[in-house]
Amino acid sequence: MTTTKHDKALIFELSQPGRVGYALPDCDVPELEIDSLIPTSLQRSQPAELPEVYEVDVIRHYTALSRRNFGIDNGFYPLGSCTMKYNPKINEDVARYAGFAKIHPYQPESSVQGALELLYSLQQDLQEVTGMDEVTLQPAAGAHGEWTGLMMIRAYHESRGEHRTKVIVPDSAHGTNPASATVAGFDTITIKSNDKGLVDLEALRADVGPDTAALMLTNPNTLGLFEEQIVEIAAIVHEAGGLLYYDGANANAIMGITRPGDMGFDVVHLNLHKTMSTPHGGGGPGAGPVGVKSKLAPFLPSPIIGRKADGTYYLQDIPQSIGRVKGYFGNFGILVRAYTYIRTYGGEGLRQVSENAVLNANYMLRRLAPHFDVPFDRACKHEFVLSGNRQKKWGVRTLDMAKRLLDFGYHPPTIYFPLNVEECIMIEPTETESKETLDAFIDTLIQITQEAEQNPELLLNAPYTTDVSRLDEALAARKPVLNCSCG
Ligand SMILES: *Cc1c(COP(=O)(O)O)cnc(C)c1O
Repeated sequence: MTTTKHDKALIFELSQPGRVGYALPDCDVPELEIDSLIPTSLQRSQPAELPEVYEVDVIRHYTALSRRNFGIDNGFYPLGSCTMKYNPKINEDVARYAGFAKIHPYQPESSVQGALELLYSLQQDLQEVTGMDEVTLQPAAGAHGEWTGLMMIRAYHESRGEHRTKVIVPDSAHGTNPASATVAGFDTITIKSNDKGLVDLEALRADVGPDTAALMLTNPNTLGLFEEQIVEIAAIVHEAGGLLYYDGANANAIMGITRPGDMGFDVVHLNLHKTMSTPHGGGGPGAGPVGVKSKLAPFLPSPIIGRKADGTYYLQDIPQSIGRVKGYFGNFGILVRAYTYIRTYGGEGLRQVSENAVLNANYMLRRLAPHFDVPFDRACKHEFVLSGNRQKKWGVRTLDMAKRLLDFGYHPPTIYFPLNVEECIMIEPTETESKETLDAFIDTLIQITQEAEQNPELLLNAPYTTDVSRLDEALAARKPVLNCSCG
């Protein structure tokens, strides 16, 4: 793609005094005296500094910006632990129905029964998928769901007169787990994984005790490996009086096959913006509903959506609630998209989604295994990790290979996560990609390993085709240069 100097200019740099991008008819209602509406102290003394440009300049500005972004609609995006699956456009159509898009959260319940029914049905569907007894749709992200779940766990222990202060997290956990535990007021205990990449039962036994509030775990774990001893793990934690929290941000491996509730978990959050195909990236909006077993239901964020005997839907108050965690009903438009997805597939379809996600990941793992170090060489679930240790000996790090992928138009996989694998590369293809797409990416990655061996210098300076090449990432975050006078 070529961009001209003009395309690159910021809208403010194009501004010319007196230029306007709109035409309004003359005002035909009496103008109100401004001082009667806004106190003089709050009135602007100088006109707002707005760019003065034509409409076409505004359109080109935003279109140019949107093209510099990379999303699932541009290309393959195998970002491990992020489930960048295709977002079906039917979800968008349904979210735009006037009955969903043009209602207001303060409308009387009787006038939004359809919307409430959708929320209620989504609660039910997510209970079914997770094996939980109740669900709240309020949390707006995975991390928000984690915090909500942990606050319920805290309330549960306190209601029993127990002061439990510790949350156990395996070293492969997503960074939000210890962060949420800290924000919820717990101390985090990290336990090491064993050499199979799984929870070390001896380490777990040594760490659980009367101060254990919960174990936070995901299964399959963030290495894409199934914790085969999950029933035993659950028993160890429960016997000590702790609860089990399931990080279900990525449920793509398990839908219709197994359920956190059946594995012994008490609380689970799902990321609808991962597993249920609602858009993500760019900071949201997301949705991180939380499901709980009935012993935690008294503490759910209030209200949830209830159904009366006469079939009408209402906002059900929760007396011992931890309180509201989000305004109104959560991110309603996102919930509509997720519901559309679930209903489009149905139960059997969701199972197929998971089977294909796991099949795609294993196909990629097997084709890539000869070219990389494979820290845990066994069947994976929806994602897998490779290590760039072999390439490191040639002077090329995982970061360099990831940067090189940009030259071929791919979003790189997750790198350097999970933390317990050196030079980690974590790939999650998802079920929505064709074999041809997977093969093309695999071939590219293999080509890059050959470049690493034969011409490491090439990788050290990649990428070559992007607007900017290597950034000082710390500086870019702390002192961003947001205009394009850089050319
Ligand atoms: C993405 C993810 C999260 C966090 O979800 P957000 O919506 O980004 O807050 C937590 N755990 C795992 C395993 C994840 O992949």
